[in-house]
Parts: sequence; structure tokens; C-alpha cells
Amino acid sequence: MSPQRQTNRNSESIDNYLKAILTLSGSPHEESGDAPKRVASNALAAQLGVAAASVTNMLQKLAAASDSFVEYERHHGVVLSPAGRRRAIEVIRHHRLIETFLYKVLDYPIEEVHEEAERLEHFISERFEERIAAKLGHPKIDPHGHCIPTLEGEMPRQQSIRLTEAHSGGMFIVDSISDHDAPTLRSLQASGMTPGTRLRVAKSDSADCYSVRVGRSVTPIEITPEVAREIRILPLTK
Ligand SMILES: [Zn+2]
Repeated sequence: MSPQRQTNRNSESIDNYLKAILTLSGSPHEESGDAPKRVASNALAAQLGVAAASVTNMLQKLAAASDSFVEYERHHGVVLSPAGRRRAIEVIRHHRLIETFLYKVLDYPIEEVHEEAERLEHFISERFEERIAAKLGHPKIDPHGHCIPTLEGEMPRQQSIRLTEAHSGGMFIVDSISDHDAPTLRSLQASGMTPGTRLRVAKSDSADCYSVRVGRSVTPIEITPEVAREIRILPLTK
């Protein structure tokens, strides 16, 4: 492996740590005043799918660097420094802009954009990012319904709830669908479940499932709890 490629791999892996820490800390809104939650290294290891020992190792290295991205204490977990938070949000902005570009301009199927964005998000230049944003008309939402952070690093707090928290008989609107599981995304898209769609949610007769009517459809579809956790909704007040 060339030294250049090695450096890229390292920064790619650091970015993924920062994103995972931000996600697990509940990514509180900058102005909310809530202190970010410290993230346990075990939880981080599970999120990244790597051994706990490598996580500890990496966190120690990251914390020791000058202008460090994280504050880490053994047995007390890890929290992003302001610089780490900025970098994590920048990578998320890249990811979501790339997904929007692939979906809208390059006509990628919805279930393929995430994997491609996971690769590209670490490497695009500021200029490329700006050109994509301009081409797309500075979008605020990606194709999964997730907020695209602004260039200044602002990201609104999420108001939505998980489908698993919905009360039976309620009317909702789909806010976002997790981008992590391609087969789930494909099947939800096929049943017309996309951000902005109306839903009527009822608890199903079959154990633990949800019975959901999508849009104007009169035939409900059954959703398992695993899939329901991937869908975030907003109550429809009217
Ligand atoms: Zn994604």
C-alpha cells in the first residue's frame, strides 16, 4: 500500500470514529445547552463493528494528538472536542450531499446511494462540495429525509419519533428512513414509503408487528419491529 493511500485510510477511519461518537452521543443541538453524552468505548466498538481493544487504542491515539478531536478518559468514555464535532458534521454534510447528488442527478436507486457516499465522503474537496450544493440548489434534506448540515455546521434538532413509538390509530407523516440497510430501503420504497408520505398506524394482530396504511392505499402492510425502528415519523396535526 502506498504511503498516500495509508494516510487516506487513517483519516477515513478517524472520520468514521467521529461520526459514530456523534451519533451515539445523541448529537445534541449546538445551542440547546445540553452537554453531549459521553460514549462508552464498548458501545462505540459495537457501532463500528470492531474489537473493543482497537477502539481503546484508537481513542488514546486521537486524544493524545494536538488540537485533539476527542476527550477520552479510560472507564469514563469519550466525547467530541469542538474540533472533532466540526469534522464529524462536515463529513455528515459531505455524505448527505453526495447521496442527494447520486439520487437526483445520477439516478442511483435509493438503496445504493449510502454505500457509495460512505466511500466518497472522506475525500471530496471544499470546492467539489460547494459545486454539488450549488447544482442541487443548496438542499436542506437528503433523499432519506435526513437534515443536511449547513456549511457553518448547523444541524437542527430532530423532532421526529420512531414508528415503534407511534400510538395506534394515529396519522403520521414519514420524516426519515435509515439509510443503513439496503434491502429494507428497497422494500419500503416499493411499498411507497418515502419521506413525506402519510401513514395510518395500527398495532397489528400478529405479535409485535405494525399494520400501516401508506398514503391513499386501503390495504395495510405489515411492518416488523426491526424495520419500524428504522422509520422516523411526525404526528400529523390537523
Ligand atoms: Zn447514507
